[in-house]
Amino acid sequence: MKIIKVKNVSAWYGDFCALENVNFEIEEKDFTGIIGPNGGGKSTLIKILLGLKKPETGTVDIRTDHKNPFGYVPQFTTFGKDFPVSVEETVLMGLLTKKAFPYVRFNRQDQKLACEAMAKLGIEHLKDRRINSLSGGQLQKVMIARAVVADPPILILDEPVSNIDAKSEIEIYDLLKELNKEKTVIMVSHNTSIISSYFKTLLCVNKHVYHHDKSEMNGEELEKVYGSPIELISHGNIPRLILPKHEEHNHA
Ligand code: ADP
Ligand code: MG
Repeated sequence: MKIIKVKNVSAWYGDFCALENVNFEIEEKDFTGIIGPNGGGKSTLIKILLGLKKPETGTVDIRTDHKNPFGYVPQFTTFGKDFPVSVEETVLMGLLTKKAFPYVRFNRQDQKLACEAMAKLGIEHLKDRRINSLSGGQLQKVMIARAVVADPPILILDEPVSNIDAKSEIEIYDLLKELNKEKTVIMVSHNTSIISSYFKTLLCVNKHVYHHDKSEMNGEELEKVYGSPIELISHGNIPRLILPKHEEHNHA
């Protein structure tokens, strides 16, 4: 079954077109990688899927009865850097949409869900730690636990493994692979070994969006999307895409 259908979508910031005539469909329980150069529109596409940005044209059809279709892990986690909350409290915040804010009171059932989410991510032992005391890898796992605590059918992650050591990165991909058994996972990544071993399909985003089976991906295809030859370097054990430098547009 197709869980996401995107039709004729374009997205603008003022008079700048970030995405043009985008069409693709995503199968339930796909593990979709989103790749493309900086400024290509990856985060914009994610915001559109989440309903955080309204497309100027076209439609996004999310086919699920679940009342929280999405778990979301944002690109930059500045969250909690100077906000003294515990790991458990952070994970519980993923249940806030269910609660009538500001009358928030978490009950035993909520705590049970938080425990289960922390167990899935292997971070129960960090439960009472302040999140500003965690390593980058631990914090990412907390953010993923927070995104899945309400058990959404679709998990979306925007470059979740930047600034993380190679060992934690692999751990996180393996955890996502496990979560992918029950969820559709969509994730921005620059990691080419991930492309071959984890993703089932790829969305290549550079103003236009190309949807590929991973078997169709090769240097030539990548070069088309990135607009210049792709270089591989090693980062720990992981070959990594070196993205060609793009003109940075001004963010509003
Ligand atoms: P990516 O995530 O692939 O790096 P983005 O979706 O963040 O790309 O950005 C796509 C383009 O839209 C970039 O040129 C960026 O500068 C521009 N852009 C993104 N957000 C805004 C914004 N809020 N206002 C104006 N331009 C923006
Ligand atoms: Mg981005």
